[in-house]
Amino acid sequence: MNLELIAYITLACTSGVLNLFLSLYVFFKRHQYTSIAYIFVVYTLLISIYCFGTAFGLMSENLAEIKFWTVILYIGMPFSAPVGLLFIMQYLGINALRMRYLMLLVIPLVTLLMVATNDFHHLYYRVYEVDPVLGAPYVQQEVGVWYLVHGIVTFSSMFVALYLLLSHWGDTDREYRPQLVALIFGQLIPIVSAFVYLIGLTPPGIDPVPLVLWISSILYLWSIGSSRLFRIMPIAKTTIFNSINDGVIVLDASRRLIEYNQASENMFPKLSKAMFGRDFNYVWKQVSGKDFPFQSMEAAAQQELQLSGEDGPIHTYQVRSTPIHHGFHYKGQLIIFTDITEVKRLQLQLEHHAYHDELTQIYNRRAFFQKCEQYFSQAMENKLPLTVILLDIDHFKKVNDTYGHAVGDDVLKHMVKVCQEILGPDVLFGRYGGEEFVIALRETDLKAGEQLADRLRVHVEKNPFPMEEGLLPVTLSLGVSCVLHEPDETLFQLLNQADKALYEAKRKGRNRVSVFDQKHHPLKAGNR
Ligand code: GH3
Ligand code: MG
Ligand code: MG
Repeated sequence: MNLELIAYITLACTSGVLNLFLSLYVFFKRHQYTSIAYIFVVYTLLISIYCFGTAFGLMSENLAEIKFWTVILYIGMPFSAPVGLLFIMQYLGINALRMRYLMLLVIPLVTLLMVATNDFHHLYYRVYEVDPVLGAPYVQQEVGVWYLVHGIVTFSSMFVALYLLLSHWGDTDREYRPQLVALIFGQLIPIVSAFVYLIGLTPPGIDPVPLVLWISSILYLWSIGSSRLFRIMPIAKTTIFNSINDGVIVLDASRRLIEYNQASENMFPKLSKAMFGRDFNYVWKQVSGKDFPFQSMEAAAQQELQLSGEDGPIHTYQVRSTPIHHGFHYKGQLIIFTDITEVKRLQLQLEHHAYHDELTQIYNRRAFFQKCEQYFSQAMENKLPLTVILLDIDHFKKVNDTYGHAVGDDVLKHMVKVCQEILGPDVLFGRYGGEEFVIALRETDLKAGEQLADRLRVHVEKNPFPMEEGLLPVTLSLGVSCVLHEPDETLFQLLNQADKALYEAKRKGRNRVSVFDQKHHPLKAGNR
């Protein structure tokens, strides 16, 4: 074996050993890395198979051995360029594990099968013989059709990977550029050596790529060790920045716009890259027609903001402003917009459900008490009158019994609607329970309360419930009571007095109003 051959074998073995080491190293540390580590493990393993296959091929003494090692090296070689491309894609934040990208591996698989069965079809090598002049392990070969297919796929993969890396140069932070340079050279080295091989500048039958792949390995090794390849994927970070649903806007220390993500652009279509470098107050005025709420930056703040979108509906945003510090230096501001329109709508809906009666849509008992407690304490504090009316539908059981519960429900809704025509939207009107309702009237004395109660009674009587069979009369009995402004008086007492008055109205024959007599206990009936 001549010295030249020994040198080739040594170089190929070096490449094989280094790649195997890289593969195992990353494999055992894979838990510290992201999914990119798995692709890298496969990539370096394939390269090491390719290199060792080449090295053993160069030690072969006859054609059968050469062919055997050629098949072995093809287990790695045709896959390595496409898998290298997938690795670069994943590094750049393109999800390379998708099915459509994995289809790239079909051609290499066919190539492997073609090489293994070449003796039967000669589609890969038309001629593959021991070199008649140099002897084994050198070979004389003439390429077949599939060799060209394989060559195209391999070169395209390497070029696309190189192109992707170069095109991300501008997006990459200065501190991560050495990492990018290492990856670019890692790709460039096999491309150049394969090209040199193609144009016939290397010894016949010797593939120079495995002989130089150790240089790529050293670059990758340096990348992993020094600049934390895999752990920090700067370009993938840009992808993450653009893929989050929140709008993120970055300002510099002088409040000038320097960056925004895709979601911001979707939220505020008037935002444009031409605004980079402009004062953010100016930018915001252009974008929303309003002044930006946070005037003093440099402190964390948050606020809700309502903006009408291009399409009309108003959107509610939660806006958070966070200062960016590097060491002790203020570097700028991060403004994050979260669209909470839907959350707000649900919150309002939930609040409505919590405070309103589902059937009649007026306040439920709990909400009534909450609000009436406020009325009551204000009235007591300021010595103002407060009157409550309790009302109950007369002989309502009969409605249910005769026409069914559903009609009963409709009668309740109808009665509430009729009462609201008199009360208006601002009067506190709640469902006390069943078919009993309650009204609180601020700054209203007993007399005025009684008059209103009677207007309600008359209005309901005049508006019977319309049914297919005809009109169903509805009448109310009402009890009225007013605060006495006595010490220790409670809302509970006030309502209890109204209830007594209501009972009195029922007792006296229904469809009438009774007031709780303040002076001459027990009760005085004030019918109509
Ligand atoms: P009175 O004149 O003495 O008030 O006679 P009434 O039949 O109205 O008697 P009462 O007030 O005690 O009857 C309440 C009835 O109201 C009993 C219950 O079945 C019915 N009710 C309570 N809540 C609802 C409801 O949400 N829907 C319907 N359809 N009926 C209800
Ligand atoms: Mg009743
Ligand atoms: Mg009742």
